[in-house]
Amino acid sequence: MTFDFPLSAIARRMRPSPIRELFKLIQRPGMISFAGGLPDPAIFPVDEFADSAGVLATEGRAALQYGASEGYGPLLDVLRPWMGEHLGREIPSDQLLVTTGSQQAADLLGRALVDPGDVVVVEAPTYPGTLHALRNVGARFACVPCDGDGMQVERLPEVVARVQAETGARPKLVYTIPDFANPTGACLSEPRRRRLLELTAELGIPLFEDDPYGCLRYRGEAIPPIARLADGAPHVLYASSFSKVLAPGVRVAWCVGAPALIRAMVLLRQGEDLCTPTATQAVVAEYCRRGHLDSHLARIVDHYRAKRDAMQRELLATMPVDRVRWHEPEGGFFFWLTLPGRDSDELFRDAVERGIAFLPGGAFYPGADEQVGEVRGGGENARLCFTFADPDQIAEGCRRLAGVLA
Ligand code: PMP
Repeated sequence: MTFDFPLSAIARRMRPSPIRELFKLIQRPGMISFAGGLPDPAIFPVDEFADSAGVLATEGRAALQYGASEGYGPLLDVLRPWMGEHLGREIPSDQLLVTTGSQQAADLLGRALVDPGDVVVVEAPTYPGTLHALRNVGARFACVPCDGDGMQVERLPEVVARVQAETGARPKLVYTIPDFANPTGACLSEPRRRRLLELTAELGIPLFEDDPYGCLRYRGEAIPPIARLADGAPHVLYASSFSKVLAPGVRVAWCVGAPALIRAMVLLRQGEDLCTPTATQAVVAEYCRRGHLDSHLARIVDHYRAKRDAMQRELLATMPVDRVRWHEPEGGFFFWLTLPGRDSDELFRDAVERGIAFLPGGAFYPGADEQVGEVRGGGENARLCFTFADPDQIAEGCRRLAGVLA
């Protein structure tokens, strides 16, 4: 028996996440995967986390209850000073919101700002999960291309002008991942951060700074977050997450922004999930309170640096250097390869046959049918995640990839 569900216009337009579809292909035995942007489960702080769960014995009556939509008190008490230091100013409680993954921050922000058909400016390539969240609320996209220093911010005014000319309205939001971007691994330079801040303020367009990788720097000097340079300017929403620095399974993240925007997001989430699971917030808070996060961060930075170095070394040893280009990333999870004249979707199919998976670059661009002023790309790119595979797999995976390219 079938039933003809009267799907909404937005549900009818939805497409499966290209990445989640590819995952079905790469679950074969013996496959080495550089595809998913996954942390290494070998470095999850299982024992410390399990010990911290002991907090449920003392705080259980509160931690097993429904919690405040803004976040669980003890976790907010951890986040407020940490973010205060990170963003260089005091964070009042009406500017902070705990979310169920930073995926939810993208979702709530989209719901708060975007009506169906509105345009969001994104850097291209960009993180498909945010495109998906914004697509869920009916957004269309205008792209600003990236280079080795991140979004080419000087091109933003021309993109905004084009959106205005074609749709009669200004974009509702600008989205950027300034540190170790997914997928390119690039960092937005400080001059570009300042210019982006200035331009979005002048144009009156909110700016979404998505920063899940900022703490994972393996080399070089940290660049201040845009929200720090903004010094409290109300149009910037900063989001980060425990997913990459602790474990994605906790689904605990947070954002910092202007009270009016945070309030709108809080009200929207009351119709979504009421609150982030209180029990996990309590355990994460206890884990941080015991000082485990600081020591864990130092450990994972060393662990991932060694993996980044292994991939750089193996790529140098195996890749046909006249046919592949890349920058060694200073942090984060990803290498972004450029393969001039090659079709990365085709290469992906060959690679899977040889037992090595990566993500073809096209997955990181909005679809042609949802763009204003189309920018396509990624057809000659591959994203390789270096954090999940172990060093032997990194070596063997690079050899297999070189075999595909030969
Ligand atoms: N933003 C970016 C840039 C990401 O790479 C990811 C995870 N891959 C997220 C947001 C979502 O993270 P979370 O697990 O906190 O929802």
